[in-house]
Parts: sequence; structure tokens; C-alpha cells
Amino acid sequence: MNKIEKCNKIIATFKKIYPDPRCTLNYGSAFELLVSTRLAAQCTDKRVNMTTPKLFAKYPDVCAMAGASLADVEEVIKPCGFFKTKARDIVNLSKKISENFGGNVPGSMEELTSLPGIGRKTANVILAEIFHKPAIVVDTHFMRITRRLGFHNLKDATKIEFLMKKIVPESESANFSHRLVAHGREICKAINPKCDLCGIKNFCEKYKKDSR
Ligand code: SF4
Repeated sequence: MNKIEKCNKIIATFKKIYPDPRCTLNYGSAFELLVSTRLAAQCTDKRVNMTTPKLFAKYPDVCAMAGASLADVEEVIKPCGFFKTKARDIVNLSKKISENFGGNVPGSMEELTSLPGIGRKTANVILAEIFHKPAIVVDTHFMRITRRLGFHNLKDATKIEFLMKKIVPESESANFSHRLVAHGREICKAINPKCDLCGIKNFCEKYKKDSR
């Protein structure tokens, strides 16, 4: 079985285990998702979702955030950690969207990654969720599980993204990313993965190795 065939079989199994894959960040607009995804770095989605209602009540759109007081944004987003850097990025990216993109979150990788604090991972979240483009979101769960499954032996997120793009069907890429996150949170944890409960263990190289 080659890697593409193996991936398709995993996707078929995942569809039964995780029938309703979705982004776990709450958002009501492209701008809110962009800000929430920036806040989610080194923080849980749960905590971000607890923080953003207050932030978006005060600064509901690009224009309002571009004119926000940095100190006030810092205070509101403090629970998400790294609040000084995150606040600076959020205010500056709002200014840039306002000045360069007519106040609308742009829809290309190049434009998104030109925004302060926005890397490929966040850009791919926006491309997948908002613009419904094929995009693979490589987070810590994605990296760990695809490595354990035997798709690669890489540590660099960009290299993993490009390699997996050749393996995952475009139409499935966004949902595959969501399903891997769900699997990583529930079963394939970084420490003590629950392999006995894992529905894709028959495809897992780590499981095969550990069972020998
Ligand atoms: S068998 Fe274990 S290591 Fe492999 S994917 Fe499942 S939980 Fe992760």
C-alpha cells in the first residue's frame, strides 16, 4: 500500500470516528478568525474562546482594532499569554488590512503571510475556513500523528505541509487537519497515546514497532 492509498484508508476510517470535523475556535467573521487564530498560538482554543467575546465587543472590526489602544488590547487578551506580542500583532495587522487591503482580510497565502505575526499555519486556517481553498493546517498534533503513522520523519512544519499536500486529496485537506487535531486531543496524545482505543492503529508505524 503506498502513502496515498494509506491516507485514503485513514480518511475513510476517520470519517466514521469524527463525522463532524470543525474548527474549534468561535468566530463570526474572517477578521475574528484571524485574530482568534493569532491568539491561539501557545494557548488553548477554549481559553481563546473565553477571551474573544470581550475583545470583539470592544473592537468588532478591522477599523476599530486598527485604532485600538495597545495597552487596552494587552489587558483584554492577557489570559491568552504572550499578550504584548499578540496585542502588537493584532493592532498592526488591522492597520495593514485597513491600509493595504481595503479593510478586508485577504485571501492568498502571500498576502496573509505579509501581515504582522501571521505565518503559514494561521494563513492556512483562513484559506480553508473562510475561502474554502485546499489547505493543510500543520499544528503540533498534525506533525506528531503523521510522523507516528509513518508518512514522514520530518520536524519542519513547512516541509511537512508540502509533503502531505502530495498525499492528502485536496478536497479532504481541511477536514483531515481538523480530524487529526481531534484525534491528537482525544487519543493520540503526545505522552501516553491511547493506542488500544485508536481506530487507525492498523495504519500506524509506531504502533507496529511498539507491538513487536
Ligand atoms: S496507534 Fe497510537 S501512536 Fe498510532 S496513531 Fe493511534 S494513538 Fe497514535
